[in-house]
Formats: sequence, C-alpha cells, structure tokens
Amino acid sequence: MKDAETASIVYRKSQIMKAVQLVAHGAPGKFELRDVPDPQPGPGEAVVQVHACGLNHLDLWLEEAGLPISIKLPRTPGGEIAGTIAGIDAGVSDWKIGDRVAVQSNLFCGECEFCQRGEDSMCLRGEILGVQRDGGFAEKVLVPARALVCLPEGVDFDTSAALTLAGSTAMHMLTNRAHVNPGDWVLAIGGASGVGSAAIQIAKQLGARVISTGSTEAKRALARNLGAEFVVDANDPQWPAEIRKITNKHGVDVIVEHVGGDVLGKCFDCLARGGTIVTCGATAGKDVPLNLWPFFVKQHRLIGSYGRNRVDLDTTLQWAAAGKLKPVIDSIFPLDQTAAAFAKLRSRNFLGKVLVRP
Ligand SMILES: [Zn+2]
Repeated sequence: MKDAETASIVYRKSQIMKAVQLVAHGAPGKFELRDVPDPQPGPGEAVVQVHACGLNHLDLWLEEAGLPISIKLPRTPGGEIAGTIAGIDAGVSDWKIGDRVAVQSNLFCGECEFCQRGEDSMCLRGEILGVQRDGGFAEKVLVPARALVCLPEGVDFDTSAALTLAGSTAMHMLTNRAHVNPGDWVLAIGGASGVGSAAIQIAKQLGARVISTGSTEAKRALARNLGAEFVVDANDPQWPAEIRKITNKHGVDVIVEHVGGDVLGKCFDCLARGGTIVTCGATAGKDVPLNLWPFFVKQHRLIGSYGRNRVDLDTTLQWAAAGKLKPVIDSIFPLDQTAAAFAKLRSRNFLGKVLVRP
C-alpha cells in the first residue's frame, strides 16, 4: 500500500507543468503561475515544449476582456509559439518527438471550403490559440498537429517567436491580400511595431520604395535601419501632406495599416489614384468615417486582412532563414515574469517584440 502511494505521488509529479493563467480580466489583469496537468495528445494532436512565445496586442485585448468573444477563465494566453515536439498522437506520421516547430495560431479545421483551398485564415470553424484555447505562456501547449510548421535550420526559437505572428501577418497582407509591384511606393504604418517592422522589410524585398511612420526619434531610427527610405513623424497631424510631398504628389500605392481609427482615415489623404490600403487591426478605433466620393473617383481599394495562412508562416520562416527578414526583439522575460511582460507591452515603451521564454 505504502509503495503504491509513493508510486502514485511520483506519477503525479511527472504529470504536472507550470502555466501562467489569466484568472481575472483587467488592465492589468490578474495572472497566476500555476501547476496544471501535463497536456496529453488526443487524436491528431501534438504537445509542444515551449521554448519562446511572443506577446501581441491580442494578448492585451484578452487581458482586458476587449475581444468580441466571451472567454472562460482561467486561460493561458500566448499565440506566437516556437518549441519542440514533446508528445504526438501515434496516428500522426509526419512529425516526431524533438522536431523543431512553430505553430499557426489561427487554428483551422482543415476541412471547410476555405481550408480545402489553403485559406486557413478564413476557416469557418477557426479558433485563436491563446484566446479560445490555452496558449504558450506555459512549459507545454497542446495543439492540432495540422497547425505545426517546421522551423528551418538557422532560425532560433526567439527569432521564430518574434516573427511568426506579426511577420506572417505582414506577409499575408503584402503577398496574398494586396500586391506590390517593383517601384511602387509602400507606406508601412508604425515602423517600430511587429507588423510595421516586418512590412518595411517585406516591401523592400518586393522591390518597393518604402515610407514609414514613427512617434519617437528612436522608433523612426529603427524604421530607417530596417530599410525605410523616409520616415514621417506620426505625431505631426500633417504627415499625409508630408508623404504627398515625398512622392512628388503621386501618393503611395500600397499602405499596410494595422491601427484603424483616425490613422486609417488619414491614409486616404496620401493614397495614390488606384492605390490600396490593406488593414488588419483596429487598436485606435473600429469605426472610421469614409467619404465615398474621393473613394470611387480615385478608384481606391480598402482590403481587410486577418491572420495568415500556413503558407505565409512558411514563407516568413524561409525568409528569416535566408536572412531576408530579421526580428526586432526588445526584451525577453522568464515565465514567472509574464505579468511584467504584459505591463511592458501596455507601456508602449519598447522597440520591436517582447518575448516570454519558459
Ligand atoms: Zn476550416
């Protein structure tokens, strides 16, 4: 009896892991580092040992209950995951224990009409990892094996966790939703942000002339270092006029926008005839007035973009491996300091990505 009790304690010990759980919404919300049961892979699933996980504005929305989805707490946030496979369903043949992977955080069913044509970002049964399911601010995370993407040799876990979400979002915007021709003027809003810093580099690689915006000299300097030819002061209300001047009144052909609100409204003021605004976020406001007269006279396009497809994630990682896309990492926190990482993101006082390394 005594031996059995000892054995059961040993068994339980190997069956727990550390996970950060959001236990109450707020700004800041309340987080706890807890022992939780080790996840076990079910049919078609894999367990990933998390080596790094990036923070995104989405995490702040989850923390503040600012998403239009009801979330059951406690919840482990974190969607930008890089790690190694620690467990896999025996029925999954294309992966093995120890494989280095990134995870497509737009979980998709793999079966609906959109998934069948590779548009998993439009999945009818999509879920967001770290929002509707427990995510990567934990030692391990359970994911469907179809969401795994191979981490190329030469791309370390921190680089992956700093690029896979924002970088592949920008990749999806510039190579799937909108199209950039060599010589086009491209405006990347917020060049020091995750999406903006990747958009500058991707547009440059596609042969565009890139302009960006930044609210501080440090942010503008970063945007210039990443390849922006001109960077305007986002605090100057006349920045669209400045951009018209830079482009010799032509305006910009493509704008990568991820802020919404007044910023999106201003983008129309410096958009070339026939130009495209592609947008993927609304942190500065969801409701934007649109004057239809110049919109159709100048034959503008406004295109929505959501997340990424697996192919965008793959391309992003391949570009990182080839040195064409570099991450900008501001700071890395250990798992027990995840709340401090959230505070850093909320402070807006950072350049590039904030990561947690469990
Ligand atoms: Zn689907």
